[in-house]
Amino acid sequence: MIDAPERAARPAIRIDHLTKRYDSGLLAIDDVSLEVAAGEFLAVVGPSGCGKSTLMRILAGLESATSGTTEILAAPAAKNVLPAATVFQEYSLFPWMRVAENVAFGFESLDVPKDEVKARVDEILKLVGLEKFHNAYPHELSGGMKQRAAVARGFVVDAPVMFMDEPFGALDEQTRVNLVGELGALWERTKKTVVFITHGIEEAVTLADRVVVMSKNPGTFKAVITIDLPRPRDAIKIRADKAFGEYVVQIWDLLR
Ligand code: ADP
Repeated sequence: MIDAPERAARPAIRIDHLTKRYDSGLLAIDDVSLEVAAGEFLAVVGPSGCGKSTLMRILAGLESATSGTTEILAAPAAKNVLPAATVFQEYSLFPWMRVAENVAFGFESLDVPKDEVKARVDEILKLVGLEKFHNAYPHELSGGMKQRAAVARGFVVDAPVMFMDEPFGALDEQTRVNLVGELGALWERTKKTVVFITHGIEEAVTLADRVVVMSKNPGTFKAVITIDLPRPRDAIKIRADKAFGEYVVQIWDLLR
């Protein structure tokens, strides 16, 4: 079932015998290996506490590994660009900044010319459907709009790799399905390498090229499932596809 370690054609991310033991003694991640191909959409699912966020924090360089390594091999297109951007579940917007200022924030710190920042922010806000909300404050936005702004902030820096940790977790089902559709379309356009952590099995199957199913205590990769469904995928219509349902059931069975 598990292809370990996976060997991708042109890897953008390499996870090699990664282990994380917290100071408490808890073994959060136990010897996992995987390569993520350039341009791949990888989803990671698993029960609460199986180590998804730990994995993401280590990949994003926010946490150290106990042993093993993770590497980002994808090279940014320009020198002012970071190799990876991160979008978390909390909208992570500054309440005192307008939407456009929030989206520009991380980008400006990269020493990019002002007019380039503005052009890029305009473009990305249009892509996520917030072109009319440049000057709004976060408290004036709905949950879905805040999450769009947070996604825009991740995409604006144009990093080749994007880490997303439960970005739609706090949203109602309808907004969530809409944003899944939009994220899929955005990914199709930009072809970034995405690692997407989610509790939502259906959204994982809708978006991903492969789904990693993690198990808990200790956190391991139980299976890596290739989602062989045609693209572009419609986040709603795909639910009527027989193969879609079979993938969802297969993953549920693995999590049982
Ligand atoms: P998930 O994102 O899948 O819910 P986490 O990566 O947050 O899982 O947590 C994996 C395990 O590691 C859990 O048992 C959690 O309690 C533990 N853990 C997470 N962060 C820390 C920490 N900073 N110190 C000690 N244990 C932690």
